[in-house]
Amino acid sequence: MHMAESVVQPCKWELCTTKCSSDQALYEHLLKDHSAPWRKPGVEKLACGWADCKTEPHRRWLTQHLISHTEYRPFVCGVSTSCSKGFKTRVTLIQHIKYQHHLSSIRGQLYFSHATQETQGTAAAGVFRCREWQG
Ligand SMILES: [Zn+2]
Ligand SMILES: [Zn+2]
Ligand SMILES: [Zn+2]
Repeated sequence: MHMAESVVQPCKWELCTTKCSSDQALYEHLLKDHSAPWRKPGVEKLACGWADCKTEPHRRWLTQHLISHTEYRPFVCGVSTSCSKGFKTRVTLIQHIKYQHHLSSIRGQLYFSHATQETQGTAAAGVFRCREWQG
C-alpha cells in the first residue's frame, strides 16, 4: 500500500514556505494560516495571496476560493457505492447527482466527509449540513 505521506503539496502563498502532506492538509493550512485578513472587521474583499492569483475573493466565498487552489474534494457522492466521486463544492456535487445519476429529485441521504469530520445531509429536505456551510 502506498502511503499518502509521501505527497508534498507546497503552499504558494506569498512569503509562505509551508509544505503540506496532502491536499486536505494544504486546504486546512490555507484556512488556518492565510484567511485571517478576511476576518478583520470591515473587510469584504481582499487580494488573494496565492502565486499568480489575481482574484479578490469576497469573505463569503473565501473557503470556496481557497479550495480552488488545492485538489481537495471533500464533498463525496453517496448515491451509489461504486461512485464515491469527490467534489470541491456542494453545488458541483448536486449537479453530478442530477446529471450523472439522473436523479431529478434527490432522495435519501448523502454523506459528506468534510475535513476530518463526517457530516451528513438530508437531500430530500433540501438541507445539507456541513459545519463550513452553516457559516
Ligand atoms: Zn501557506
Ligand atoms: Zn486565489
Ligand atoms: Zn456519483
